[in-house]
Amino acid sequence: MLRALWDEACTSVRAVEDQQLFEPWLECLRFHSATDRSIVLAAPNRLYVDWIRENLHAVLLRHLEAKAGHPIALSYELDPLLSVAAKPVVDVDATPVIDPEPTFRLNQRKTFDTFVVGNGNQFANAACRNVAEQPACNYNPLFLFGGVGLGKTHLLQAVGNRIRERDPSAHVLYMSAEDFTNELIGAIQKKRMDEFRDRFRRRCDVLLVDDIQVLATRERTQEEFVHTFNALHADGKQIVVSGDRYPKDIAGLEDRLRSRFDWGLVVDIQAPDMETRVAILQRRALEEGATLPRDVAFFIAQRCDGNVRELEGLLCRVVAFAGFHKEPITLDGARRWLSAIRPNEAPGHNVDHIVDQVARHYRVKSTDIRGKRRTKEIVEPRQLAMYFARQGTDLSYPELGRHFERDHTTVLYAVEKVECQRRADPAFELRVDGIGRSLGLKKKG
Ligand code: ADP
Ligand code: MG
Repeated sequence: MLRALWDEACTSVRAVEDQQLFEPWLECLRFHSATDRSIVLAAPNRLYVDWIRENLHAVLLRHLEAKAGHPIALSYELDPLLSVAAKPVVDVDATPVIDPEPTFRLNQRKTFDTFVVGNGNQFANAACRNVAEQPACNYNPLFLFGGVGLGKTHLLQAVGNRIRERDPSAHVLYMSAEDFTNELIGAIQKKRMDEFRDRFRRRCDVLLVDDIQVLATRERTQEEFVHTFNALHADGKQIVVSGDRYPKDIAGLEDRLRSRFDWGLVVDIQAPDMETRVAILQRRALEEGATLPRDVAFFIAQRCDGNVRELEGLLCRVVAFAGFHKEPITLDGARRWLSAIRPNEAPGHNVDHIVDQVARHYRVKSTDIRGKRRTKEIVEPRQLAMYFARQGTDLSYPELGRHFERDHTTVLYAVEKVECQRRADPAFELRVDGIGRSLGLKKKG
């Protein structure tokens, strides 16, 4: 549904905005995924993302929100496979189509060979390999959990790719839990539940479901998923699921679904250590055909504490700049090219930017957030702005208090209140996480 919304927004941007200015950029963006009210777009490299954030983002949001009638969080993901001379995704990623449905495709580049093993992910990697070699033998279901950008999707796809490599006729279904929901809604609307069940329960040997946490509070989908799960499990089919937290910690996930995950193995992925980060960078540079000196790899690895996606983003930027300037990659160049995105200067890490963004999400004025009014509509965004400012900056409570022209205890209270409500109310949690993502902040806890 959000994909359709994106298509509509593109059409309207093309119709009313300056074609010459926007078309080349619009061309190179692709719909990547969506959850609830947030959309992730894929762009070919970090430079594009930076430019788009600065110049196109607000326009896109305006059109999206006008179509949707409610706030939308928009974020970007790098997909180096999207070439600059944009071609439809199907052409560029040369992905083998596993099922006619585009959502079930595996990315051929996400394999065990391209996955760098370090001490944060070695158990997850070993469990996935085991499952790929002997599906439904030892660990069924296998549940992978870990923070954003730590390789969950990569491993899930590696399992699928390996199983297909061993047996090209195997029916491997890879999908995000979001896709599962959308498929289900579509099937209900079109009265095609039999077809839906048939595909998931009978024409599927391996089911790989990514980001299960989005099913929190979606009762109907969970119910259907439990049935699918039971049918597959009873038939000896392998199930691998990923989530951003330990199953028991996903609020809004029904007990009978959570308890299913205890039947198998639950493994976590931790952020990679320094050596692993360097190895990942070198591996990625090799894939890009770039020569990455060791000191530069260390320099980049030092600047990013864990999220591999961010790590890749920094590398992409360095590679892209070196390419633009027709220079080899050097430590000096990397310093210069990355200086613009020092962590503390990233947009999500600036109080003004945070206030503006939160205000936009709630359709209130930034000045009101900073102001003194205490009406209900303004208190929640104000507290959230304080919460994100605390998360996204290194500022102390007293410093934050000065930013918001309030006592530091007010900020402290706001942060605690949001944390508390976040735990108690899954819908609120989703909203907070969505805004956090649009601010480029990492999820906490
Ligand atoms: P998640 O699904 O956990 O958010 P992804 O699997 O999408 O994370 O990983 C983000 C990016 O980092 C992907 O491009 C992935 O290929 C890459 N990546 C993550 N971990 C590794 C690793 N250990 N070795 C190589 N690439 C990795
Ligand atoms: Mg993922």
